[in-house]
Amino acid sequence: MNNKQKKVLYRIIACSVMMIGLHFAPIDGILQLALYLTAYIIIGHDILLKSWKGIRNGQVFDENFLMAVATIGAFILAIYDQTGDYEEGIAVMLFYQIGELFQSYAVGRSRRNISDLMDIRPDYANMEIDGKLEQVDPDEVEIGSIIIVQPGEKVPIDGIVREGRASLNTSALTGESLPREVEEGDEIISGCINMTGVLKIETTKEFGESTVSKILELVENASSNKSKSEEFIARFARWYTPFVCYSALVLAILPPLFNILALNSAPEFDVWIYRALTFLVISCPCALVISIPLSFFAGLGGASAEGVLVKGSNFLETLANVKYVVFDKTGTLTEGSFEVDGVHHNEIEDKKLLEYAAHAECASSHPISHSLQRAYGKNIDRNRVTDIREIGGHGIIAKVDGIEVAAGNKKLMDKLEIPCEECHSIGTIVHVSIEGKYAGHIVIADKIKKNSKIAISDLKKSGVKDTIMLTGDAKKVADKVAGELGIDTVYSELLPADKVTKVEELIAKKNEDEKLAFVGDGINDAPVLSRADIGIAMGAMGSDAAIEAADVVLMDDDPAKIAKAIRISRKCIGIVKQNTYFAIGVKFSCLVLGAVGIANMWYAIFADVGVMVLAVLNAIRALYVKNV
Ligand code: ADP
Ligand code: MG
Repeated sequence: MNNKQKKVLYRIIACSVMMIGLHFAPIDGILQLALYLTAYIIIGHDILLKSWKGIRNGQVFDENFLMAVATIGAFILAIYDQTGDYEEGIAVMLFYQIGELFQSYAVGRSRRNISDLMDIRPDYANMEIDGKLEQVDPDEVEIGSIIIVQPGEKVPIDGIVREGRASLNTSALTGESLPREVEEGDEIISGCINMTGVLKIETTKEFGESTVSKILELVENASSNKSKSEEFIARFARWYTPFVCYSALVLAILPPLFNILALNSAPEFDVWIYRALTFLVISCPCALVISIPLSFFAGLGGASAEGVLVKGSNFLETLANVKYVVFDKTGTLTEGSFEVDGVHHNEIEDKKLLEYAAHAECASSHPISHSLQRAYGKNIDRNRVTDIREIGGHGIIAKVDGIEVAAGNKKLMDKLEIPCEECHSIGTIVHVSIEGKYAGHIVIADKIKKNSKIAISDLKKSGVKDTIMLTGDAKKVADKVAGELGIDTVYSELLPADKVTKVEELIAKKNEDEKLAFVGDGINDAPVLSRADIGIAMGAMGSDAAIEAADVVLMDDDPAKIAKAIRISRKCIGIVKQNTYFAIGVKFSCLVLGAVGIANMWYAIFADVGVMVLAVLNAIRALYVKNV
C-alpha cells in the first residue's frame, strides 16, 4: 500500500471505532450530532471537497456528487425527523471509501504486475574503455560498438555475439521459460538476461531501435487504443449519472405531489426523499467504470506475460472474433533459415556462383539473403557491391565488382528476359544471372517451424473457419508445406501486391463480424499486415516495419501463440461481458427495490461496494491465462 492508501485506511479505522463507540454511548442532542458530524467529516471530507470542485468546474454529475448529496441528505433527514439516526449517512461514506481503497489497491497491484513483466529496460551498457570495464548510457552506444554483458545482466542492445557463449533467460520477452543458448556468431536481442557466461556483443542497432525500446514503446502506447466497450462505458457514465440524479429528483417530488393533489393525503416528503437518496447511492456506476478498463488492462498484461504483445484493448476485441487466419509462409510458418541443398551451374564454379549471389544480396533483409550469406561463409565486402535494387517478390539486381548480377526466382529472370533452366528438386530456387547471361541456380530448402502444425490444429479447435497460406514462393514448395501442416487453402507465386489484393478479396467475402487475421514476418508483407482486420507479426525475427505495421506482435515467433492469443482475448472479453451484465443487473434490481421502498440505504451501499469488489476480482482473473 502506498501512503495515500494508508491514510485512507487510518481514516476508515478511526471512523469505524467512533461509530461503534457512539452507537453505545449514552448521549443525545447536540453533543451526539456534533460527534457524529466529526466522524462524517473524518471519513468523507475529501469526497465533499471533490464534489464541490466538480460543481465549480461545471462537471457536476460524478460519483462524488452522488455520494455527497446522498449522505448530506441522509443527515438532514435525520435532523428533521429528530430520529438521531445519523449512522446511515456515515456508513454510506465509510463503505464507499472502503470500496475505493480496495479498487485503487487492486489497480495498483495489476499495474505493478505488468510493469514487473515488462521490467526489461536496461539501465546501462558495459564497454571496455582503455582496458577497463565502464558503464555507459545505452543511448550513447554507437552501432558496431562492442559491449560486454556479464552473467546476471540484461542485454541492453541488439547485436551479434562476437565472443563467448551463454544461456539466456528470455522469459520477460517471450513468456518462454526454457533458456536459450547463444554462441559466437548468433544474433542476440535486447531484453534477455544473460544467466551464465560473459558475452562480447557487437551492436547492430542503436538503443532506440533495439527490441527493448520498441517493446516498451508498444506497451506504453497500448492503453491509448481503447476498445469499443471502454468507449461505451465512458459515454454511458456521461449520461447515466445526470439521468439518475434527475430521476431521483422526480422520485422525491412527484409522489408527494400526487399524494396532495390526487389522494388528498399527507405528502410524506421525508419517505420519498429518503427513497430518492437511496436511489442515488444504488446507482453509483463505479463497478462498471472501473472494472471494464481493468479487465482489458489485465488481459493485455496476461498476454504480454505469454510473449504476445497486443497494441491496445480494441485489438483484443477483434482478436476474440477472428474466424479466418491468413499466413505468410517464409519466416512465419517456416524458420526462414534456408539450407543450401545444391548449386547447379553452367560454366562457373559453385563457389563463385555463391560468392556473387551472396554479395548481391548483401543489403537485403529477406531470409533468403541471410541464408545465402551464411552458406557463403566468408566475410562479405560491401564495398564491392553497388547499384543494388531489390524487387519485392522477385529478388535482387546489383553490381558486384562492376559486374551485373541478378539473383531471384523465375519471375525475375522472365522480367530480365533471361531464359532459365527448370530445376526438378523441390525447394526454393534462386536463379543467378551474370552480365545478362544465365549462370545457374542455387536450391535452398527451408524447415517448417516445430510448432506450425500444432498452431494450425489449435486454431481449428478454437473455432477458426479457414486457414489460408499466401506465398511468393513456387507452387511446388507451397503445396508441400501446406499439405504437411493441414492448411485449408494455398495461394502461391504471389507478388507482394497480390497478397494485398488476395486479403482484400477474402475480407470482402466474409461476414462483417467475422474477423480476418494476417500473420507475417513483415518482409514484403507490411502492407498486408495493416490491411487485415488484425495484423500479427513475428517480433524476434521480423523487420521493424512489421512490428510497426502490426497490431499484435509474437515475441518468440511461435505461431502456436496465435491460438493462445485468441483464447486470452476471448477470456478477457468474456470477463468484460460478465461484469457488465452483473453490475447492470444488480444495479437495476436494486434501483427498483429502492424506488418502491424495499431496499434501504444500507442495502444500497452493500450492493454498490459488493458489486464493485466482485467485479474487480473478476477483472483480475484476466491477468492469469497460463491455464486457459
Ligand atoms: P514469402 O511469401 O514466402 O514470404 P516473398 O514475397 O518474401 O515470399 O518472396 C517471394 C519469392 O521471391 C521468394 O520465394 C524468392 O523466390 C523471391 N525473392 C524475394 N526476395 C528475394 C531475395 N532477396 N533474393 C532472392 N529471391 C528473392
Ligand atoms: Mg515473407
